[in-house]
Amino acid sequence: MAATVHRKPTRTMTCAQLGGACDLALRGESADDVIKQQDRHLREAVRAGDTAHEPAHEDMKNRWRHPLKNLGWYRDTKRTFAALPED
Ligand SMILES: [Zn+2]
Repeated sequence: MAATVHRKPTRTMTCAQLGGACDLALRGESADDVIKQQDRHLREAVRAGDTAHEPAHEDMKNRWRHPLKNLGWYRDTKRTFAALPED
């Protein structure tokens, strides 16, 4: 299929590696990609009534509100992502 021609290598991080409460695997081409997926996953989990994901969801909301304060977390996540083996 033509759609697979330009595929970039992907890496996998889990919800737990991103501060969450489960081992859901999030696969993306960049750290930004998996962070966006984690954000969506946390929102959906909390909306479904999953209290275990609430603290991580609050942390994530605070990161969007105060991006400069959370540059350290962002850099660490990018570094962790880059150090992972490609899928
Ligand atoms: Zn999770």
